[in-house]
Amino acid sequence: MWSVLAVAALLQGCSAQVYEPSKDSRDSPQQAAKNYFGDVKLNHIQVEALKSGGDMGGGNNGYAAVNGENLRWKNGIIPYEFDCSIENLDDAVSAAKAAMAEWEAKTCIRFVKHTNEKFRLRFIRDTHCWGNVGQVSYSRISIGHGCEYQHVMTHEIGHVVGFYHEQNRMDRDDWVNVFWKNIGRFNDAFDKVKNTDSYGVPYDYESIMHYPWSAFSSNGKDTMSPKKPTNGKLPYIELSKDDALQTSKMYNCPKIVADRKRVAKLQHKDDLKLSADPYKSCVDNNKNCPSWAKTGLCSNSQYVMQNCPLSCNAPGCQLNCIDENPYCADWASAGHCQLVAVVRKHCQKSCNSLCKGGNPTTVPPTPPPNTDALKTDRPTDAPTDAPTPPATAPPNTDLPATQVPTQGPTKVPATKLPAKCIDEKTACPAWAKAGFCGNNEQVKILCVKSCDPECNGGKNPPTQVPHTHLPVTTGDAPVTNQPATNPPVTGPVPTSKPTVRNFLGKGVLCLDYNEKCDQWAKEGECESNPGWMRSNCMKACKVTSCDAGVLKPPGACATPLGLAWNGTSTFQLPDSAFHSPANLSPGAGWEAAAMNARLYYPDDYDNLRIGAWCAASHESAKSMDGYVQVDLQEVRTINYIATQGRDKYFERISKFKIKYSSDGVDYKPFQMGGKDKVFDANCDHVTPVLNKFPGSITARYIRVEPWEWNYPCLRMELYGC
Ligand SMILES: [Zn+2]
Repeated sequence: MWSVLAVAALLQGCSAQVYEPSKDSRDSPQQAAKNYFGDVKLNHIQVEALKSGGDMGGGNNGYAAVNGENLRWKNGIIPYEFDCSIENLDDAVSAAKAAMAEWEAKTCIRFVKHTNEKFRLRFIRDTHCWGNVGQVSYSRISIGHGCEYQHVMTHEIGHVVGFYHEQNRMDRDDWVNVFWKNIGRFNDAFDKVKNTDSYGVPYDYESIMHYPWSAFSSNGKDTMSPKKPTNGKLPYIELSKDDALQTSKMYNCPKIVADRKRVAKLQHKDDLKLSADPYKSCVDNNKNCPSWAKTGLCSNSQYVMQNCPLSCNAPGCQLNCIDENPYCADWASAGHCQLVAVVRKHCQKSCNSLCKGGNPTTVPPTPPPNTDALKTDRPTDAPTDAPTPPATAPPNTDLPATQVPTQGPTKVPATKLPAKCIDEKTACPAWAKAGFCGNNEQVKILCVKSCDPECNGGKNPPTQVPHTHLPVTTGDAPVTNQPATNPPVTGPVPTSKPTVRNFLGKGVLCLDYNEKCDQWAKEGECESNPGWMRSNCMKACKVTSCDAGVLKPPGACATPLGLAWNGTSTFQLPDSAFHSPANLSPGAGWEAAAMNARLYYPDDYDNLRIGAWCAASHESAKSMDGYVQVDLQEVRTINYIATQGRDKYFERISKFKIKYSSDGVDYKPFQMGGKDKVFDANCDHVTPVLNKFPGSITARYIRVEPWEWNYPCLRMELYGC
């Protein structure tokens, strides 16, 4: 996938510095071939509509915004979350937060942390900056390298809210000239989008959804120019007044705001205590919560405690599927379930999706698999020097689903006793597996086949769950059948546990890449030119999102063993100590060889070394050739390994196995409980993840075998004595 363009970009970047020269932060969000209009991801319905000239979102007036009500976020509320590929990238997270705050300050759009709402916006780290249009089933914004700016995120959120580009409006030819000869291969960024609606708001030169005049230029010349006086207005700076106006019309903000006010009043009148609610939301943030809770993780996993208040039966936070207030339905329809914690708590019938449908199989929806997160795209700014983006889908960052109800079924008429050995509900096997046969009489009745040992040749485990009482029923509400406080001894083994990653610092060394950094810092450049300075003069600017040097884990026998790059041109372990049978050779003389598998090592433009070892291909990574190993030069005691993906882009290994050897001939797999240990590794591309070897390894050669990846690239350090 290394196009001529990519090579040209690389050659351009061959300056004396390791890092490329800074890019203008006001550059357009340059985009990928498979995106639409530059940085837009469309769902298949929208793609079809585009191809056929059909309805891109309802309406027929032909302007810049979607009109279809189904594409608007209900009540203007967007539940959001940060994917693990982004959550440690401070710049990206703060850009997204700043942009969300801007939207909230200027419009009625509100952002709430996603819990179990069906639709949500997920911020991820992919290549480039892009966003889906409107509320779609798997709405995402990518904060790629170079997208970590507030205005870029404000723009991408604009897509998610429901906007196409201003220059894609049907009436744009009245307002701008398009210079097709100056546009590179991204002509479609200047296509018009039919059948959209801008609600009577005139063309806006200062829209955040308007590309800059030089966007997608192939020759440095402007690609558009205004046909009318701009009165000093500049596109793509911030959410404009007309952007806000159009949002208001699209969402009917006056009504939303009035509803919110009305509801706030009711709330006040009704004297619900809005003060301290220690459990901000009595909902589970993960669909595995019930099963984790049942296996006792509430008491020994901080993640579970924090994210599963409902399943963990946190004080004052029981599932209680009733509305305690007559206004609950009102509040719910005005979006207050998401906005006000106390409403979530006291209006569970209206708010809690676990209560909806009155059926215990109603568990939080499973998101569709993330199949198109890793489309082959062109990076945001020039160098397309990433190895071929992977063809496989990334690991779904959601933990595997174990569909377990937190409650028993609703009331069962006593007369409706099932015949023996029949399950009346499809969820029976899951309930049985989760131990409900033992502590829920209704499950026992409904799920004789799954619950009664006799129905299964007596092979079902006797679910002798410690329990004393039947659930308390509240009216017609489902029973609050929480698991007994002691997890059942014979309970199911959880199929997944939260992945708890131990991070070791930030993964980027604080270095100055220019000898004048100190001087510039003194002259105030860190503040006046933060984009460039914070990347190139990290030390002088006292940037906090980097590591002062090669970090080490705490404790004894945890010294770095010399793989890492320390910011100088000398390596403690020589290049010859590294080996892999096959690695990626991306072209133009660049190599992703084993000797580059050094923690912190960035792309080296002087020596054409990719900052990481990368397997030759997906297939190669799966084969016998798919490993990278290091010779520590003598037998050492090794206690930890830190791994990192490839800097800047998003390749990473999310799971790996280890083999080791003292003589370089016989390699043993690292095992636990008689099985090869699979280590949880990286989700983002930069933050080092630390794994401890239980019981240490004594070896001279350590071999890392990728087990799961989006594209297998690795940097590493070992620690020991
Ligand atoms: Zn865009």
